[in-house]
Parts: sequence; structure tokens; C-alpha cells
Amino acid sequence: MNADAHARVGYDPSPLKEPTTQTRVAIVTGASRGIGRAIALRLARDGRHVVGFARNAEQLESLRAEIVAAGGSCEMQSCDVGDGEKLALEIEAVAERHGRLDIIVNNAGITRDGLILRMSDEDFDDVLRVNLRSAFVACRTAARPMMRGRFGRIVNLGSVSGIVGNAGQANYATAKAGLIGLTKSIAKELGGKGITANVIAPGFIDTDMTTALPAAIREGVLPAIPLKRFGTGDDIAAAVAYLTSDEAGYVTGHVLSVDGGLAM
Ligand code: NAP
Repeated sequence: MNADAHARVGYDPSPLKEPTTQTRVAIVTGASRGIGRAIALRLARDGRHVVGFARNAEQLESLRAEIVAAGGSCEMQSCDVGDGEKLALEIEAVAERHGRLDIIVNNAGITRDGLILRMSDEDFDDVLRVNLRSAFVACRTAARPMMRGRFGRIVNLGSVSGIVGNAGQANYATAKAGLIGLTKSIAKELGGKGITANVIAPGFIDTDMTTALPAAIREGVLPAIPLKRFGTGDDIAAAVAYLTSDEAGYVTGHVLSVDGGLAM
């Protein structure tokens, strides 16, 4: 291939440069435990500077210590993502401190399960505020520094419930379905600025969220999972690592099920 052809296909024939990914700054919400913790550990291992948001200071400190012991770079921020004003200020502060914000993973989430006849307005609103509104605020705030850097990777944690619905989860499924509309809309708005936005839709993953389920439900769901096991935080973290990588720059507006085949 001659030099002109290289230019046409965007190939850079110059010697290897220092990998830019090492300096990428990544916010992970809900990093204190479960899936968020696995994501934070993975992104730090991949050379990102990780900023973990959550409320439990003790768990955040243990995550910080683990990342630092493994030679990673991180900082932890106590933050209730349900407080939109505070969340926006904390995200802005990260971008200001580092002069950039490259990656945001909106992972923080709660459940308040109940059948619709008994579901209170409060349980509906709480779940929408923490699972959906927080992601909207985070995306809106992160978009500015990402646009300035002409690079961004947004990943929102959806759920199989947001795709196929789930009895007892009208609030949660609504929030997770809403995340898909939010993500596809911002993928269209921000694509021209080098920013991608995608959803990962986990199935049943072994965390505090699913150990809280009655044993009968846990056992009952297994036969419906083609891969015959619950997933792990690392299964989700691997998908996040890909979607937030520089190499995933042509993947946007996608809903990636990581569910052992449950939703197909
Ligand atoms: P988890 O073990 O219950 O952990 C939830 C995380 O979210 C914790 O780090 C928690 O931190 C944080 N969080 C909750 N409310 C918060 C708030 N108001 N402000 C800041 N952080 C908050 O849940 P998980 O299983 O890891 O779930 C993570 C994400 O994956 C959620 O969005 C969930 O909906 C989604 N998901 C999970 C499954 C599953 O099977 N586990 C399946 C589908 C989707 P603090 O308590 O310290 O604040």
C-alpha cells in the first residue's frame, strides 16, 4: 500500500506513540460495590484514572486502597447521585481538576420492587430519580468537557428488565427502558463531537442486588438462562472496558445485552 492509500484509510504509518488511553479520566457511579466496583477495578487496570462516586465512604476507601495497591490511579468521591445539583457539581469539579473528562459510566442503581397495585408514588419516583434522572444529569454535565476534548465514552447501565419488562418492577423497568431512549438520543446529538453513548443491559448478575431476591426466584430463573449461570461483575466490566476504549469509536447508540442469553 502506498502513502496516499494509507492517508485514505486513515492509517498512521508513524512509529508508536505514547498510548493516550493512559491519561483518560473515567467517572464510575455506584463504584462502592457490586458491578460498579468491578468496573472501577477493570478501568483502573486498563490504565484509566478512575473517579468513583457512591455514598458508602468505607467501601469507597477499600476500593481506593485496592486500586492503589495494584498500581492504579484513582480518587473517590462521596456523592448521592439522586441529588442532581450535587452530582453535576461533582462531575464539573472532576473535569476542572483534570482538565478533561473522557469516560462516564452511569451505574448507580436501586430497586424498590412491588406489584403495581401496591407500588407507591414514592417508590416509583425514587427509582426513577436514582436510576434515570441521575444519568440524564450526568450525561448533560459530562457532555461539555467531552465536547471540549472532542472525545467521550458514555455507558449507561440498563437491564434486561428495561427490554422485556418484569413483573414487580414497573418502576425499575421504566427507568431502565428510559435509559435506552436517553442514550440513543444523546448518541445522535453528540456523535459529531467524537462522543459515543451506549447501554449495557445485564441479566442476573451476582451482587447484593440479586442476593436480596428470594431463593425460589434465583433458582427459578436459572433454567431460562442459556449459559446456565448468573453473571459476574467482571462479565459486565469487560463489556464496559470495550465500549469505553478508543477502539470502540464506531459503536454508538447500541444496547449490549450481557445476560447469558436471557433476553434473546
Ligand atoms: P448493588 O450491588 O446494589 O450496588 C449498587 C451501587 O449503586 C452501589 O455502589 C451503591 O453505592 C450505588 N448507589 C445506589 N444508590 C446510590 C445513590 N443514591 N448515589 C450514589 N450511589 C448509589 O447493585 P449492582 O447489582 O452492582 O447494580 C449496578 C447497576 O447494574 C445498577 O444500575 C443495576 O440496576 C444494574 N443491573 C444489575 C443487575 C444485577 O443482576 N445485579 C441486573 C441488571 C442491571 P452506595 O450504596 O455506597 O451509595
